Amino acid sequence: MRRIINPFDQSVIAEVEEGTTADALAAIAAARRAFDDGSWTSTSPEHRAAILNRVADLLERDKEDIARTETLDTGKTIVESRIDVDDVVAVFRYYGGLAALLHPKIVPGAGPDVLSRVDYEPVGVCGLIAPWNYPLLQMSWKVAPALLAGNTIVAKPSEITPLTTIKLFELLTEAGVPDGVANLVLGTGPEVGAPLSEHRDVDLVSFTGSLATGQRIMVSAATTVKKVALELGGKNPNIVFADADVETAVDYALTAAFFHAGQVCSAGTRLIVHEDIHDAFVAEVARRTDLVKLGNGFDDDTESGPLVSAEHLAKVEGYVEIGLREGARLVAGGKRPDEPELANGFFFRPTVFADCTRDMKLVQDETFGPIITVEKFATEDEAVFLGNDTDYGLAGGVWSQDLDKAQRVAKRLRHGTVWVNDFGPYLPQAEWGGFKRSGIGRELGTSGLHEYCEPKHVYQNLKPSAQNWFARRDT
Ligand code: NAD
Repeated sequence: MRRIINPFDQSVIAEVEEGTTADALAAIAAARRAFDDGSWTSTSPEHRAAILNRVADLLERDKEDIARTETLDTGKTIVESRIDVDDVVAVFRYYGGLAALLHPKIVPGAGPDVLSRVDYEPVGVCGLIAPWNYPLLQMSWKVAPALLAGNTIVAKPSEITPLTTIKLFELLTEAGVPDGVANLVLGTGPEVGAPLSEHRDVDLVSFTGSLATGQRIMVSAATTVKKVALELGGKNPNIVFADADVETAVDYALTAAFFHAGQVCSAGTRLIVHEDIHDAFVAEVARRTDLVKLGNGFDDDTESGPLVSAEHLAKVEGYVEIGLREGARLVAGGKRPDEPELANGFFFRPTVFADCTRDMKLVQDETFGPIITVEKFATEDEAVFLGNDTDYGLAGGVWSQDLDKAQRVAKRLRHGTVWVNDFGPYLPQAEWGGFKRSGIGRELGTSGLHEYCEPKHVYQNLKPSAQNWFARRDT
């Protein structure tokens, strides 16, 4: 039994029964049987799309309840949780509209006596593993396309934020997903997550989480040559040129880095500012950072909630120590808040470090907390160099009113998403994922569906006759 804790005050909001490795194996076996009996796989894509649209309806019906649960479980504000549910609905509806992409494609140009087509078949049993920062959202990006493509699934949410995923799986059943097709296992990574990347009956593992766990999953998936889809971390540059709309860029610098207390894979925590505006820009970012209102996610005036756990708070605090040791200049935050009413929560003041350099661990590591590092640049080439100076490649932003320059820089940035004069939005219709060590493959968009498909080329000779390549017939 695991207690699920509200990070705002450490109260126990639920107790859930955790699974063991035996439960994970039973879930894999159930998914395998449901796949192999063919009844789900042979339904039409339109039938499965209709189910996804019903799931979207049910999510809308239960939106407020789900949003409240997400806020209790993660500490994020209720406004953020409602946006998350809206986004999840949009993803189910988007994939609910893509059934036609699964129809066979006739291959042109094969010749008059040939019928050649590509079928899009499901991969098989898919293991889906999600993190704690966007518990329902990240799981939905996997569940919706995997089911549309006709796969069966075994899903594992983070052990610290399982509640909205439990709810989602209830809704899948209510929407008509048959027994054995969508299986949920709860528990820790080593206990119930690892079997999903190791087991020979799992054909694909799709993982969102940290680089270190992703590497482990890739290694263990190699034994059975599973398909692997990875959405990993990021250290995302936010580049501000001197000709930017500075007031807007300051505003977004805060949102980019402090939304959900910086616990966002695409958080723009690496701020890179042109030398001409640097000092004033940093001063204004620091001033406004000190004004960020922390509090209970259910209060109207709360702008940011706590971090997710005591362990994560300790990790983020550790990065402040590291930054100070490395010589970065603390200009805002850097500590837990003083308000006594926040003392039981895992709160950390939004933090800004100036005078940062690219060799600092603080600059290179994904802190996954509300910590901005600021670096200075002089030329466009230098901005691009710093923007790409990371092992990751998930997302980045460029601020300039010279749109030719902004697009030039966007083109040269090696990240899966680049925002120009914005930071943060994504669309279900557009691919999401990482260059370099931010991952393998893409979620969302049509690529997010094709991850879960095996294209099969069927070539039919309409007028077969002997080829006589090996022409000898007598002994
Ligand atoms: P994590 O790697 O610790 O855990 C993620 C999931 O993996 C959890 O469900 C965990 O139980 C499970 N897990 C742990 N060990 C495992 C193992 N050996 N085998 C299988 N599963 C295992 O990550 P986290 O702390 O939950 O999430 C934060 C990380 O997620 C950050 O690095 C963040 O950047 C990343 N993230 C990336 C994206 C993206 O779209 N690229 C989105 C959200 C979060």
